[in-house]
Order: sequence, then structure tokens, then C-alpha cells
Amino acid sequence: MEELIKCENCQTTVVIVEDNLFYSDEKSEVQLSCPVCNDKLETRSTDGWFFVQTEIEFKKEKEIESKKERLPYPMM
Ligand SMILES: [Zn+2]
Repeated sequence: MEELIKCENCQTTVVIVEDNLFYSDEKSEVQLSCPVCNDKLETRSTDGWFFVQTEIEFKKEKEIESKKERLPYPMM
């Protein structure tokens, strides 16, 4: 699950991915801040954690992943 938020301070589009591997009832407050200017974006409660990066980084990573998928695995 990914979500796009625009930083009001530097106008960077930030991608927020929520990761909750553990199913617990205990939620904690997480302060999300912009990876570029460190400005506070918002506070959220989660039982996992948030992965915050810029849209550019996010797209780059997706590209690398899709390239990896196209490469055949070397025979061992
Ligand atoms: Zn910013």
C-alpha cells in the first residue's frame, strides 16, 4: 500500500508505504517527515512502520526491481 503526499514546504512528492508485518493491537504514533527538507508532514498511528521516500527514489527502485525480474537467474 503506497500513498502520495506533497510536502508543503519544498513541494516534493513523497511516497509513504505502510508496512505492518505484525498484527498487534498496540499502535504507536509515528511522525512522518519530508526526506528532503525534514519538514513535518503528518502524524499517524500504526502497528507497523512507515517507509518514507521521494517519488523519484521510489520510481528508481521500482525500475531496478523490474529490471531484476527480467534478468534470468544464473544457474548454480
Ligand atoms: Zn519537504
